[in-house]
Amino acid sequence: MNQASADILIIGAGASALACAAELAPKAKEQNKKIILLEAQKVCARKILISGNGRCNFTNAAAAPSKYYGDKKFITEILKQFPPTACLKFFDKIGLKYISENGRYFPIAGKASAVKECFLNWLENYGVKILENQTATEIKRQSNLWEIKTQDTVYTTKFLVLACGSKAYPQAGGTELGYTLARQAGHKINMPRPALFGFDLMEKKALIRIAGIKMQADVWLEKYPQSKQTDEILFTTRGVNGNNILTLSRQVQGGDKIFIDFLPQFTTKDLHKYLTERASSYPNLKTKALLSGILPDSLINLLIDFAHLRKNNKLIELNPSNFAKIEETLKAWPFTVAGIRPFEEAYSAAGGVLTSEIEAKTLRSKCAENLFIIGELLDIDAYCGGFSLHFAFATGALAAKSIGENLCRT
Ligand SMILES: Cc1cc2nc3c(=O)[nH]c(=O)nc-3n(C[C@H](O)[C@H](O)[C@H](O)COP(=O)(O)OP(=O)(O)OC[C@H]3O[C@@H](n4cnc5c(N)ncnc54)[C@H](O)[C@@H]3O)c2cc1C
Repeated sequence: MNQASADILIIGAGASALACAAELAPKAKEQNKKIILLEAQKVCARKILISGNGRCNFTNAAAAPSKYYGDKKFITEILKQFPPTACLKFFDKIGLKYISENGRYFPIAGKASAVKECFLNWLENYGVKILENQTATEIKRQSNLWEIKTQDTVYTTKFLVLACGSKAYPQAGGTELGYTLARQAGHKINMPRPALFGFDLMEKKALIRIAGIKMQADVWLEKYPQSKQTDEILFTTRGVNGNNILTLSRQVQGGDKIFIDFLPQFTTKDLHKYLTERASSYPNLKTKALLSGILPDSLINLLIDFAHLRKNNKLIELNPSNFAKIEETLKAWPFTVAGIRPFEEAYSAAGGVLTSEIEAKTLRSKCAENLFIIGELLDIDAYCGGFSLHFAFATGALAAKSIGENLCRT
């Protein structure tokens, strides 16, 4: 076994780890302290690279406790100290230029790799080492230091940061190892479960007819009427996807009823007025013409069948109960969830290290000395839309601040 040492060692080189190292690097250099990041994968930051469909939606102006699941007191403290404005300031500092799309922030380069490159350049400038192909399998306290074992090396360090991420998306480095290491340090884990996944619906025949449709819609679960999410929905031959579906996913189970409002731009009253006025203006047109200006063709055809209407009927032949059925269906079309999807299809995980064992201000472990736990390894998960990465960067930066303050005392 090789031996190596650092003053600060971070396990993982993903979003939270890079933010932690970047925030700490100037101070560490000034004080001649060595930072090492260990990364199990051949290349670091794989989830950053694939995030936001390769564009990396790295924060959201609407980041607030309501956009997160888990310990609300914990997340409130994190966001108080590291709101979206702090995140933007942080990226200004490391040289990333960005744009906002409805409050979602992306690099102006249009590529997630710009985020990774800014981190790597910044860290190289301060002499921070990222060691790839190093999988930490064991951590323990040894004579007031942490000892970390990888496949070929034993590292010692004063400050240890666990930034291993979650079990989600193993194709890009998702692993259970972080939970194992946290347990070795005395932490308890809330059993991880997939979150942020597109799910299958039972209505396969209907889906085949509308697959490919991408449009704004409200979606909500019958069991949680307050769960309503407005965003783009995408229909596939198997089910549904899109930001609003991903956000709902961590609450769904097979058999749940989900409602879709295909016309969130209209209130029920406005829709009724629009349809009846259209019918009286064009009484001799066919039923399909009632909706052709506001809905995709394939959806109108499906609706006509679902509402037991006749395609070739004229608008003048529609009765009040036909209108009521059309309006009711379009504003709350019921579908049934077929089941949840595995970690391989989940962008994130619910569950993780119990936040009651972590200080929210500093991300310091309450169970073990000089240990910090950050990012998605913690028992907090978020809505879709840049909130997960915001949390990873926030926890990384806050842990760095705390380690920085303690560095002076070493
Ligand atoms: C397809 C996809 C798209 C996404 N898009 C977005 C988006 O647009 N916006 C958003 O906010 N969120 C997005 N997310 C979620 C976001 O990527 C994660 O929440 C975020 O990366 C979590 O940061 P982290 O540092 O906790 O973990 P990660 O970024 O996963 O980093 C953890 C790192 O630790 C390494 N590691 C783990 N265990 C060990 C070990 N024992 N030894 C050494 N190394 C180890 C892993 O290989 C990994 O590189 C997306 C996720 C996926 C999968």
